Amino acid sequence: MCRHAAWLGAPRTLAELIHEPEHGLLRQSYAPRRQRHGTVNADGFGMGWYDPDLGPDPCLAAPEPIRYRRSIPMWADANLPGLARVARSGCLLAAVRCATVGMPVEESATAPFTEGRWLLSHNGRVDRDALRDLAEGAESACDSAWLAAAVFRRLRADCSPAPASAPSASSLSASGTSASGTSASGTSASGASASGTSAVPAGAALGEALAEVVTSAAAKDPDARLNLLACDGVTLAATAWGDTLFHRPHPDGVLVASEPLCDGPGWQEVPDRSLLLATADGLRVQPL
Ligand code: GLN
Repeated sequence: MCRHAAWLGAPRTLAELIHEPEHGLLRQSYAPRRQRHGTVNADGFGMGWYDPDLGPDPCLAAPEPIRYRRSIPMWADANLPGLARVARSGCLLAAVRCATVGMPVEESATAPFTEGRWLLSHNGRVDRDALRDLAEGAESACDSAWLAAAVFRRLRADCSPAPASAPSASSLSASGTSASGTSASGTSASGASASGTSAVPAGAALGEALAEVVTSAAAKDPDARLNLLACDGVTLAATAWGDTLFHRPHPDGVLVASEPLCDGPGWQEVPDRSLLLATADGLRVQPL
């Protein structure tokens, strides 16, 4: 299993997921504490974040993410600490990889995968036959890349002009909620509504896409482990399906991670076979 982590809230740096916490992803790359499959995560790493100055994605009026990934161990990249200290955003995602036997070790097999405004990471494994008709255009033969392609394909289907009666994306924005710091990143849900181009509320679409791909893959491969973590700049969605997942609420946002980044209080384990969804309105966990 690989390890992944994300933040949604007031702007933070990627170093706050990777280097600063005692058990951040750097430490988890060589000494994870809850990993059930594999012992180290040395087959690559990646991170993604959103810079509002880069302009909106034409589909849903949020900036496209910036991504940095390598197929070397995280500890071997001497440039990473400096980059992670300045890569700052209200929505961050990072991952370290332990390649499943038989999967290629290459940059294109390394999370986060991205398309449009979306970033996605996978902890686990799945028989690619379970995704055969869904994963056209996957960038690597890696099972995780196939899962990402299937989710992006499902999300693309939602990214079409809204009927007049479609719910407004502004229904996702709320003032004074736990993750309200997302608006400080310039990627607030209300910004999406102002463009008039949004079809489906972003949070709902992301959660539904993960749920659909996970349940359909699991129906075809009952041994699959399908912990997905995805974001779109204003929403985080994650599944717990065969591996650990935790979240930790903060006054200005929420952390979501395969395992706690520190021994501080407040980490809550997400039950297996659940979907977690975090937006500016707060966080909810529901059974899959
Ligand atoms: N199966 C994926 C890969 O090979 C994820 C591996 C993992 O979670 N350890 O990269």
